[in-house]
Amino acid sequence: MESRFFITEDIKEHKKGRDILNILKNYSIVSSEAEFLKILKEKKSGFEKEKGYFLFTVKKGRFLKSYHLDENFQKIKEEYYLSYENNCPFNCVYCYLRDYYSHGACIFYVNTEDMFHELDKHTGKNEMISCGIVNDSLVFDNITNISHDLINYFKNRKDLILEFRTKSKNIKGLLNEAVYKNIFVSFTFSPEEVIREYEFMTALLEERIMAAKKLQEHGYDIGIRIDPVINIKNRKNAYKDLIKKLMTSLETKKIRDIGLGSLRYTKGLKNKVLLERKTDLFYNELITGIDGKERYFKGIRIQMYDEIIKEIRKYGDFDIYLGMEEEYIWKKVLK
Ligand code: SF4
Repeated sequence: MESRFFITEDIKEHKKGRDILNILKNYSIVSSEAEFLKILKEKKSGFEKEKGYFLFTVKKGRFLKSYHLDENFQKIKEEYYLSYENNCPFNCVYCYLRDYYSHGACIFYVNTEDMFHELDKHTGKNEMISCGIVNDSLVFDNITNISHDLINYFKNRKDLILEFRTKSKNIKGLLNEAVYKNIFVSFTFSPEEVIREYEFMTALLEERIMAAKKLQEHGYDIGIRIDPVINIKNRKNAYKDLIKKLMTSLETKKIRDIGLGSLRYTKGLKNKVLLERKTDLFYNELITGIDGKERYFKGIRIQMYDEIIKEIRKYGDFDIYLGMEEEYIWKKVLK
């Protein structure tokens, strides 16, 4: 059977590459990332099937990237992200990576020592660096063991904050590590209806909650991300139930912060999704925003945030922020 794992030979020059080769049983060798992508394109299998393929190779460019945010939007917490792994095997219909990368395969760059050298030169001022913006931080941790390396590095960088971000339940690696105040784990949570309709292959809601709970018991602070909020039929009750489940299952004192955002996407993403699947995701009251992305009408967004924030505040005073929203929306809903 053809392997879905590919490597370039040069990964053997790096410890992380050798460690991964000790785990992989069956793989094909390609000469470069370009050759891998050519093979992938020749299969003409489409973005969603490409998600089943994985390449381990060496990165030539930068690992630390700053978050590009339209100047009209209020600053968000995650100012930087790490790009040692691109793409994700889960299949969320709204995932912006579908339009960001030209393919669906996951690529992991093994020269992580170069990433840490790059970080050494970065003087921190308490900035948050996320390692789950162009990937899912934990989904492949059992193969890459990257959580161990990141924790080992960031535990000595108290001037920086590291965020793991996931929709998986793969927390074994994190449970093996000691806990440090500047390192936390965020889970993106959605109502069950949303997971069923739009977040294929991800962990179930109960599984994500259980994983977050276990990490809290281990000592971690947990970030809650409810993003994107989707205007489903039963929206008010679905999100009310979600908040209730989260707040009654998790230890509220160990909730570090809560990030909310509403569905947004480029026209390119919408066209690509509709080429491969039928979905009602884009049929709603949507408008093109200042950044060229489609979003729900302002009134709907404000109402959605109001409903959710009202529920959250029943359980305590949390640090809540909005993703990719203008200042006046922040002022209106966060008062
Ligand atoms: S889990 Fe995140 S990165 Fe993966 S497909 Fe879903 S939205 Fe995209």
